[in-house]
Amino acid sequence: MSDYRVLLYYQYVDIEDPERFRKEHKALCDQLELKGRILVSDEGLNGTLSGTVENTQKYMDAMHADERFAEMPFKIDEADEHAFKKMHVRTRPEIVSLNLGEEDVDPNQTTGQHLEPTEFRDALLDEDTIVLDARNDYEYDLGHFRGAIRPDIRNFRELPDWIRENKEQFMEKKMVVYCTGGIRCEKLSGWLLKEGFEDVAQLKGGIHNYGTDEETQGELWDGKMYVFDERISVDINRKEKTIIGRDWFDGEPCERYVNCANPYCNKQILMSEENEHKYLRGCTHECRVHPENRYVKEHNLSTEEVQERLEAIGESLPTFA
Ligand SMILES: [Zn+2]
Repeated sequence: MSDYRVLLYYQYVDIEDPERFRKEHKALCDQLELKGRILVSDEGLNGTLSGTVENTQKYMDAMHADERFAEMPFKIDEADEHAFKKMHVRTRPEIVSLNLGEEDVDPNQTTGQHLEPTEFRDALLDEDTIVLDARNDYEYDLGHFRGAIRPDIRNFRELPDWIRENKEQFMEKKMVVYCTGGIRCEKLSGWLLKEGFEDVAQLKGGIHNYGTDEETQGELWDGKMYVFDERISVDINRKEKTIIGRDWFDGEPCERYVNCANPYCNKQILMSEENEHKYLRGCTHECRVHPENRYVKEHNLSTEEVQERLEAIGESLPTFA
């Protein structure tokens, strides 16, 4: 039995005074010594946090005692320690940012059909169904459902535009979307319906729910699932283990995400420890030789040492004549 838990949850519900809610909620979380990130908006609540088994239970009980959140499902992972460093509760215009502006969707009014994990598995195997990954590119690259489409976008916010540009490919088919915990798909699937797609569904409870389901046991998921906390990734498929992440530098199988050492780039890239040292943790030559390269600072490398590493990969420091 683990000592800690990580919770993932959301609820689309009217919150009349988000700022007041935020203050009271922060006090509750602090009292229970929880750590994590919670977004509050007049449209609802979106949270992920960690804490002891006892205190996360108290938190869930407190939330379920509030009629607005009485039915809110919690996705629960066991953990050995906190998965966050601090507790943030913030107010935002939206609890998940899809940038729909005037076309914003209320998922309590319009949303795609919710598929149970076994129904979703059937959809994955159905040739007439398009399964679309509704996450960011770096999440897909670490792991995704077999055969799912990877939209060519950097960020979830760009998804509506991308779908419009590629509409012809999908219009005639059934559309099924999925994301980590389900929240992104609540709005996205509603938007798809408004956009004229007729047969739209979403994975209920997201990938997380699918991975913990006793029937599917995460079947047909390849790689790992990216999570937005210190764990960075978790396992989903309990029947079969595959690695689909590829090292940025040499293309070898890799599941180790690291941020580029250039603080102005900070791009998340997969790299082995060996290649991190070899390439000074920089995603490009420019990032490797950047004057503020964090790897160089952390390892106290002299100019000569940096030059040596660069020469080993056929590069050199820029000369300022
Ligand atoms: Zn970079």
